[in-house]
Amino acid sequence: MRVWATLVAAVTVGVLAATAQATARPVTAQDRALLARPATAEEQIAAQVARRLTGHNVSVRCGSLGVSSPNILGVTPLYDGHSFDYFLMRPQECTLLAWFHRAPSRWDPRSCTGEDCSYVPSIAMALAVVAHESYHILGYSNEAQVECYGMQSIWFVASKLGATVPEAQALASLYATKMYPLRRTQTPQYWSPQCRDGGKLDLRPSLARWPS
Ligand SMILES: [Zn+2]
Repeated sequence: MRVWATLVAAVTVGVLAATAQATARPVTAQDRALLARPATAEEQIAAQVARRLTGHNVSVRCGSLGVSSPNILGVTPLYDGHSFDYFLMRPQECTLLAWFHRAPSRWDPRSCTGEDCSYVPSIAMALAVVAHESYHILGYSNEAQVECYGMQSIWFVASKLGATVPEAQALASLYATKMYPLRRTQTPQYWSPQCRDGGKLDLRPSLARWPS
């Protein structure tokens, strides 16, 4: 068997996805080309957050994921329980992170009122993609577990990008209450009944707060 026949690209599926998708694909020449160019400011920001979260020397690039479904927002190639310390995101995710980084308080779900507040869920999703892919960087491949751990780190990503702790927690709460439940039917591979306060996937079982 060719080595990369067993490679798995761990993917993040958007919450509007009709079905979950996990795509097997190798580390590609296209990935190498993306990694060979200098990181943009947005990519550097995402990578800094992922480094803090994982302790790995992570690289991030926004570009073509090499997968066809538009619902897949991020990809971390994995082999045999190890990542290659990089992940890819769609360009729109980098744009959303840049918007957030510029003025985090503007996107606080508790107080956002302008027309562009319709982007708040997309911003929460972009934060979740960074957190989700970071757990793949650590070698986790079970999507339900990765998604749940990632959700519990949204606040960390948001706060590293400049949000106050209450703002960061509000975005994580939005994701947990409005977006995560949709996964049960829309992307069930990314959902677990144990992903709840006190559930088996609770990373901080002694704390009553959820998901932050
Ligand atoms: Zn994933």
